Amino acid sequence: MRRLILSDIHSNLEALEAVLAQAEGSYDEMVCCGDVVGYCACPAEVIDWVRKSVAILVRGNHDIACCCEGGLTDFNLPARAAAMWTYQQLTEQDREWLRQMPEGPLLFDDYEVAHGSPEDENEYLISTADVEWLDRAAMRRMCFVGHTHRQGGWSWKRGAIQRLPVPNGEEYERVLDLNPAYQYLINPGSVGQPRDGDPRAGYAVWDSEANVLALRRVTYNVKAAQMRIVEAGLPRNLAERLTGGH
Ligand code: ZN
Repeated sequence: MRRLILSDIHSNLEALEAVLAQAEGSYDEMVCCGDVVGYCACPAEVIDWVRKSVAILVRGNHDIACCCEGGLTDFNLPARAAAMWTYQQLTEQDREWLRQMPEGPLLFDDYEVAHGSPEDENEYLISTADVEWLDRAAMRRMCFVGHTHRQGGWSWKRGAIQRLPVPNGEEYERVLDLNPAYQYLINPGSVGQPRDGDPRAGYAVWDSEANVLALRRVTYNVKAAQMRIVEAGLPRNLAERLTGGH
C-alpha cells in the first residue's frame, strides 16, 4: 500500500493543489494528521476536498478552534483571528464535520496517526529531547504526526535515536529506505504553512510493501495564497510568513 501523508493544510488551496499535482499516481490511499483549516483563506474549499477524498484523518487544534464560536483563548492573536474568521466562513454542516473529526492517535495494523504526539494531540515535538522516550509511547512501528509544521522525524534502533534527513533546497525529495527492525516517528511537513525555513509545501509518501518513505517538497503559488489572505482581511503576517516558510 502506498500512502500519501498530509498534515497542516490550513486552508491553503494553492499549496494543496500543487501537492496533489506532484503526487499524482504515487499513492493508493490518503492520510491526514490534522489541521485542515485555520490561517489561510480557503477553508470551505479545503474541507470539501478532504471530506470527499481523505478516509483516514485525525483532528488538529485548529480544527477544534474553527468550529467553536469565539475561537480558543490559548491561541495567539493572528491564529485566533483566523479561527474566528474561518468559523464565519463555514456552513453549519462544515462546522459539524470538523466537530466529528476523531481525536488521535488512530491505530492501524502497521502504523498510527496523531496530530501532536501519540500521547497528546497538542504536544509539539521539535527537538530530539522531546521525542527520546516516545518509542515507548507509540503503539506501532510507524507513527505519523503533524502540528509543528516541520518536516522530518526520528528513528530508533534498540532505543538509540537518530534524526532523519530531509530534502534540502535543491531537492524535491529525500527517499529513505526504512529498516524493518527500527521504529519511526515521521512528520510529513505542513502543506499549507511550513515553518522549517523552506517555503515549499511539504508532504510524504510511504510505501509499506517496499518499506520506503519519501519526504517531498513542492513549490506552489505563494503569491496567490497571500493575496487571498490579505483580501479576506486576515492578519497580514499570516500572508507574510508564507514567503520564508517560518
Ligand atoms: Zn497546524
